Amino acid sequence: MRAFGSVGGLPRTIASARGAYVTDVDGIEYVDLVGSWGPALLGHAHPEVVEAVREAASRGLSFGAPTEGEAELAELVIDRMTVGATRAVEKVRLVSTGTEATMTAIRLARGATGRDLLIKFAGHYHGHSDGLLAESGSGVATLGLPGSAGVPEPIAGLTLVLPYNDLDAVRAAFAAHPGRIAAIIAEAAGANAGVLVPDSGFNAALVDLAHAAGALVILDEVLTGFRVGPAGWWGLDPSYLPDLVTWGKVLGGGLPLAGLGGCAELMDRLAPLGPVYQAGTLSGNPLAVAAGIATLRLADADVYARVDAAAARVSGAVDAALTAAGIPHVISRAGSLFSIAFRSEPVRDYTDARAQDAFRYAAFFHALLDAGVAPPPSVFEAWFLSAAHDDESLERIEAALPAAAAAAAAS
Ligand code: PMP
Repeated sequence: MRAFGSVGGLPRTIASARGAYVTDVDGIEYVDLVGSWGPALLGHAHPEVVEAVREAASRGLSFGAPTEGEAELAELVIDRMTVGATRAVEKVRLVSTGTEATMTAIRLARGATGRDLLIKFAGHYHGHSDGLLAESGSGVATLGLPGSAGVPEPIAGLTLVLPYNDLDAVRAAFAAHPGRIAAIIAEAAGANAGVLVPDSGFNAALVDLAHAAGALVILDEVLTGFRVGPAGWWGLDPSYLPDLVTWGKVLGGGLPLAGLGGCAELMDRLAPLGPVYQAGTLSGNPLAVAAGIATLRLADADVYARVDAAAARVSGAVDAALTAAGIPHVISRAGSLFSIAFRSEPVRDYTDARAQDAFRYAAFFHALLDAGVAPPPSVFEAWFLSAAHDDESLERIEAALPAAAAAAAAS
């Protein structure tokens, strides 16, 4: 993902980052639109987050024992995931990466149902554990890979990969494998093959279909969680209840932290209370927890309003520049996340996302980079704004876009 695999050239080696900017080892500053692939909701190196980490470090780096911070962060998450009278999660387990969070959620779903099969959607990314790389998004999509070498067929065969936004395919899968499907895992809104917006009511329908078949739903909010709103994508339409939710990225405010949550009855099946094993030497690391607490405490309504406004402004400016250059394109937007697809029709699934003039993105990307603006180095990645993107940084992006669109048109 960092290697400029689809746009060519050498990735910049970053020396430091602050607010909306990253600076490379040659001292060149870029307006950053990657945000560490999501965590930097507040912008880079927010002084209060850095201070919280410094203070935590002064008390010790890792204890391998419970801390008050873990409980405090879990309570913050549970509070956020309570909208009106609806409480989406009652217990939280902290891990270090999104990959671990989804891996554990799947093991828990299998342990709870006694079933083996898993449904995932093409173009969705849930980390790099063995069963989840088939037709995966993110770097797997950027590099055009069907999956990964090194995954034994019996493991890959336990994952049923379905087209996104296709409830008939979900119904057909349950009909074809009665009593065998443990869970559906879905990104709350797809954001790893470009942005794939779920149809209205799609996530709720997944829950209905799964429950009717005795299966569970794992809502993967690793990327969307605490970014598109205080309670993630789920909080924008809390009309349904997923069984398990996973988080990462913003949860750790830039340090390695992720988690999963669900109702107590399900979460209590995790060891040591239950038989589903999970553990991690650095899980709930005190520095990461301190960064997470500080980040969630700072991410108030004003922060979300600023991030949303910045995303609207940049996506609007991208749209206008590409239109002015006469390039067929659509902008997909899910809350403050957006991406470009070089095609005329909307993008609903991974097949659509791949059916575009993706080659145009390389010229567009490099023209922006040359102008001191760093968008994600793949057309299959979302653009990440932050509350630190102020007028000055946004104007720099706007100023760079017309030449970048012209370069894309000429490519
Ligand atoms: N799920 C989703 C939706 C993600 O976007 C990602 C990371 N991009 C992951 C899981 C995996 O997280 P990590 O890279 O922390 O393992």
